[in-house]
Amino acid sequence: MSRTVVMKFGGTSVGTTERIAAVADRVCKHVQETGDSVVVVVSAMSGETDRLISLSNAVNQGKPPVREYSQLLASGEMVSSALTSMAIQKKGLKSHSLMAHQVRMITKRSFGQDLILDVDSSRIKELLAENIVPVVCGFQGIDDKGDFTLLGRGGSDTTAVAIAAALDSAPCYILTDIDGVYSALPKLCPKAKKLNKLTYEEMLEMASSGAKVLQSRSVSLARTFKVPLWVCSSFSNEEGTEIVEEYPGMEEAIVSGITCRTDEAKLTLRNIPDEPGYAGAVLSALAEVGINVDMIVQSQGESGRAELSITLDRADLSRAEEALQGLVENRLDGVRLESDAKIAKLSIVGEGMRNHPGIAAKIFEILGANKINIELITTSEIKVSVALSDEVAEKAVQILHQHFVENR
Ligand code: ASP
Ligand code: MG
Repeated sequence: MSRTVVMKFGGTSVGTTERIAAVADRVCKHVQETGDSVVVVVSAMSGETDRLISLSNAVNQGKPPVREYSQLLASGEMVSSALTSMAIQKKGLKSHSLMAHQVRMITKRSFGQDLILDVDSSRIKELLAENIVPVVCGFQGIDDKGDFTLLGRGGSDTTAVAIAAALDSAPCYILTDIDGVYSALPKLCPKAKKLNKLTYEEMLEMASSGAKVLQSRSVSLARTFKVPLWVCSSFSNEEGTEIVEEYPGMEEAIVSGITCRTDEAKLTLRNIPDEPGYAGAVLSALAEVGINVDMIVQSQGESGRAELSITLDRADLSRAEEALQGLVENRLDGVRLESDAKIAKLSIVGEGMRNHPGIAAKIFEILGANKINIELITTSEIKVSVALSDEVAEKAVQILHQHFVENR
C-alpha cells in the first residue's frame, strides 16, 4: 500500500545546487521505487540564515524590528524550496514549492520561537492527489494577518513534524549530514556510537540538552502526535536512528546518550531573603525580555538567606545581567549578582535510569575521582545534568562515556 511520508532536508543537504540535484534524485527514486507520496520540507541553504542575520545586525545594531526580521529570515527557505522544486521537475516529476501561507502554518508570536497553532494540509493533499511533489519551506510560519513568523533556529525540523502530524501522523524522515543520533557528540568523544533506536523521551532530553540533531520542539510534537520519526543521512542510504515510543531492552541500557552544551553561562543571586515571591520575580524579569533559562537551582542557606542559580545561553548573558541588575537595584536590597560565562552542561540520558538506583551517585563519584568539580546538579526521571567549567567538559564526557557506554 502506498503511504505518504515527509522527508526533511537540512541546510547542508541543500547547501549547493549539486546537493539540491542529489536531493531531487533521492526523492524521485523513492517515489518511483516505493510508490510512496513524498512531501519534502527544506531548510535554507547552509550558512544562509546566518548571513541574513548578519545583514540584519549590520543595519540594526541592536534589536531588529520583529516583523521585518521574520520577513528577512523567511527568505532563505524560499530560495532552497524553489530550487529543490525545479530540480525535482528536471528529474521528471511534477513539483510545487510552498511557503508558510500556502500551507496555513498558523502561529502565535513568541520571541522568534513562534508557536504553531494549526496547519492546514488540504493544499498538500490536493497536490499529492495529482502526483505533484510539494516542497515546503521549513522554519516559517504566519501570524493571523498572514505575515511571516519564525519557528526558531533549527525550526525546519518542527515544520516537518507538524506537517507529518497534519497528514495523519505520516512517517517523518529527518535527512541530515550525519547518519543518525550518537551516544555522544563524535567531535567530543571519538568512541561515540550510532544509536539504532531511542524513545521520544530520551530524544527529547538529548535534544533539549545539546544534541544538535533535532530541534527539541520537533520531538515533543512527534511524541504528542505519535509521528514515527527517523534521523538519517541524506548522503547515504544507511538506516539511521528510529525514534519510537518504546523498544525492547530500553530499560537495560542504563545510559543511552551523553550530551554536552558548551555555550552556557551561569548567574547566581546570593543573599536573597528566604521569603515567598523572589524566585518568581527573578524568572519573570528574565521572561519579560524573552530569555529562556535552562537549569534552575535554589538552596536555602543558614540565617534565612537563600541562593538562586540559573544557567542560560551564553549569548543571552549580558541581557540577563542587565535585567537582573535592574531588579536587584529596585527590589532586592542586599542581594549580590554574580556571573560566570564559561559554563558547560553535561547531561546523561537513559530510560534505564528510571529503575536503576545509584546512577547519580556513580556519575558524581566518577567526576570526583577525576577531580572534576560540579557546580550545579539537576535531574529528571531519565536524566542527570551537571553544570561545570567548560574547560573540563570534554574530559568529563569521555570518562562518563567510557564507564556507562563503552564498558557496559
Ligand atoms: N534555516 C533555519 C536555521 O538555520 C532553520 C533550519 O535550518 O532548520 O536555523
Ligand atoms: Mg537542523
